[in-house]
Amino acid sequence: MTEDANHTDLQTIIGETGEVGLVRLTFTQPLRVPAIDPLTFEQWSRLVACPQCGTSAGVALEARDRSAVAVCPSQACARAWPANDVFTASQIRQMNHLRLQGTEVTAPHPTQVTVNLVPELAGDDPAQEEDPRADDDGSTLDAEARWTIGAAAVHDQHAPPLVVCLGWSRGLLGWSLPAEGELYERLYPPAGGSALDAHMTQVLLGLAIHQAALHQTQYEIRGLELTAIAAELDPGRAHELRGTRPAGLGADGGRLRRSDARRLATAPDTDRDRWLHLAGEVIASHCEDDFPVQGHKRENLPLSTRVSLRTSTLGPRRQRFLNPAALDFTWYQRAPATSVAPAEGPI
Ligand SMILES: [Zn+2]
Repeated sequence: MTEDANHTDLQTIIGETGEVGLVRLTFTQPLRVPAIDPLTFEQWSRLVACPQCGTSAGVALEARDRSAVAVCPSQACARAWPANDVFTASQIRQMNHLRLQGTEVTAPHPTQVTVNLVPELAGDDPAQEEDPRADDDGSTLDAEARWTIGAAAVHDQHAPPLVVCLGWSRGLLGWSLPAEGELYERLYPPAGGSALDAHMTQVLLGLAIHQAALHQTQYEIRGLELTAIAAELDPGRAHELRGTRPAGLGADGGRLRRSDARRLATAPDTDRDRWLHLAGEVIASHCEDDFPVQGHKRENLPLSTRVSLRTSTLGPRRQRFLNPAALDFTWYQRAPATSVAPAEGPI
């Protein structure tokens, strides 16, 4: 991490054409990064300077899709070089978010997301949830009802599974949004993105997690495999999510908000397809970041191919990258007064 995290005169350019999710921060003071001598293990700090002309003052850092690039301020030089060792693309976008908010710009954690960029959708009422389904008269316990009760009884969940799944969904998007150029551009309003799309992407991703857990009879959501979630978002069957209405847990909630059920029922197919695509991109980003697909433009590969690179489960894969304090486990639905709040959120 750089020693000087408080850069008082940052300049930013967002969304120039040609680079997906471009954010540029110009640092008025020289940047330093920690370094270690490979022979003596002595620690020191290295000045970030142009490898061509040596300029260190006024270096700009750019987030370009998933990568960070440093740019020499000298117009005669203008050399650009990889700079993921200085700040990652996600850190640059998080710092820019702080800057746009007028907050002191401090360097975010190098691997965790400490600044939540997921926008809030104004106008929806979380208390207005769908009525219980007509067939949910309590006379029979079907497979979904049994699974719902079982999942809500899992230690540390203590909430209807849809609420837990949407907590995970928000956590997954919270990590992916600053890290992925396309998601940043489409879902982050200051970069031209849509708060409604961000909301519905989370809803469809949450439904995909819910259905994957239901189909696999997985009670503990953190134990769900990412590949199972991606399978629900496969274009061949993802349209089923549009009609999915979780049964919930009676007075404890766990059903969709009425506003979301209405959107899913009435939105044009183009909107639904966009939300499904973006939800798929979120899952893909959690599967690919350690193993980029060499030689391919990854967006052109089918989702099933991209996620097969990773078979890990939800919890271990993402727990250490997400700061629980920065993300709200109960964002979608406030916990009823009778329910016990989870001791530890899944994100
Ligand atoms: Zn230079």
